[in-house]
Amino acid sequence: MKVTKRFVLGGMAALPVAASCATTATPRTADTVVVGAGVFGAWTAEMLRRTGRKVELVDAWGPAHARASSGGESRLTRAGYGTSRRYSEMAAGSLEDWKRLSRDQDLPLFHNVGVLAFYDQENEYAAGSHETMLALNLRSERYEVEQLRTRWPQIDWTGVKFGLLEPDFGALMARRSVSTLVEQFVRNGGTYRKAAILPPKGGDRLEALQTEDGETLQAGEFVFACGPWLSKLFPEVIGARLFVTKQEIFFFRPPAGDARFGMPAMPGWIDFFGDNVMYGFPDLENRGFKVANDNHGDIVDPDTNDRLVEPASLAQVRNYVGRRFPGLKDAPLSETRVCQYENSSNGDLLIDRHPQWANTVLVGMGSGHGFKHGPGVGKAAARLLESPSAAPEALFSLATKSETQARSVH
Ligand SMILES: Cc1cc2nc3c(=O)[nH]c(=O)nc-3n(C[C@H](O)[C@H](O)[C@H](O)COP(=O)(O)OP(=O)(O)OC[C@H]3O[C@@H](n4cnc5c(N)ncnc54)[C@H](O)[C@@H]3O)c2cc1C
Repeated sequence: MKVTKRFVLGGMAALPVAASCATTATPRTADTVVVGAGVFGAWTAEMLRRTGRKVELVDAWGPAHARASSGGESRLTRAGYGTSRRYSEMAAGSLEDWKRLSRDQDLPLFHNVGVLAFYDQENEYAAGSHETMLALNLRSERYEVEQLRTRWPQIDWTGVKFGLLEPDFGALMARRSVSTLVEQFVRNGGTYRKAAILPPKGGDRLEALQTEDGETLQAGEFVFACGPWLSKLFPEVIGARLFVTKQEIFFFRPPAGDARFGMPAMPGWIDFFGDNVMYGFPDLENRGFKVANDNHGDIVDPDTNDRLVEPASLAQVRNYVGRRFPGLKDAPLSETRVCQYENSSNGDLLIDRHPQWANTVLVGMGSGHGFKHGPGVGKAAARLLESPSAAPEALFSLATKSETQARSVH
């Protein structure tokens, strides 16, 4: 029995969705059930819907909710990935899908502010990023330090050798993008509902899911895109191959009337120095100047960790901001956020079939860089279900994910 009601996703348009049916034991039916309405699940559901399937998307808390990895304000999109042509292509292809989704929206999903990566020394990653982008006809502009000083005088370039600007990329408004996508998915015939799915059980194939409310969801195919919760649903298959780390985000208030730290004066930026990486955004939509440390924090449980930043992290970030952005020295905090990366051992994404159930696909391990690839991930996951004989790409396969952390993808 399917009941519809009006609801509001992220404060936007009201759309009909399936309501909870906790009182009935009647199995629900769909061609495909996608569990998890973060960026990966939402795009996978949408790509499967476009194949003509009847798709039901479910989430325990809602699309890009506050504790989901997709629930932040903004995410960088860039195509520089060292020599990894696959990630560069996937980022560029995905950007076109993001722009199509952003078109005709009242509020932008993508801000084309550009992304500037800067380096303290020549290295293979930077050279590979630049060459791969040029080979793919993507714009990548090299700036020597004197040119950086001239173009962005609000940054202190001490210790920096050169920068690479990707002028066609920038910032995705993360939470807004996912909730807009789910709204569009529902408007075009997909079904979304709130439900918590229990760890699945099956024999040779998966036939149905159980919700915490005691309901059964039957389908021919299943996708699990449960972000940092993936190992809780699949303790044996995923288990220790997923590393969930605490990541802290800081927003600083620029001086009153000072446009130097907003759009379009500043691009999104990534500061590579030694083994450390800091990154951030200009003052997008007047929310504050965002700064974050990309190094992995402590291992956390996404269900129980309090979303409080550590005083030591704040002190470190303040010190960094004061040095690199002198105009923001002593700037007060506007806001902090705590989220989590869902890392694979080396940073490669997971898009593969469940080892026992050919009708079930597992998607995740965004590893701090996955958001931008949402549309590409959705396409690759849909392909595994569309073409049962297609092998998973080695880069994204479960077999290449180990239980020892050795990050190599940024
Ligand atoms: C601080 C931070 C900064 C980042 N910066 C960037 C960046 O600049 N650029 C970039 O490209 N990427 C970035 N990333 C990475 C990217 O945001 C994540 O990899 C991506 O959002 C993960 O999406 P997901 O759909 O896999 O997971 P999530 O967004 O966590 O979605 C998983 C969903 O599954 C649901 N779920 C879980 N268990 C169940 C269950 N049992 N039943 C029903 N539903 C369930 C959850 O409620 C959740 O909504 C960043 C990540 C963080 C945390």
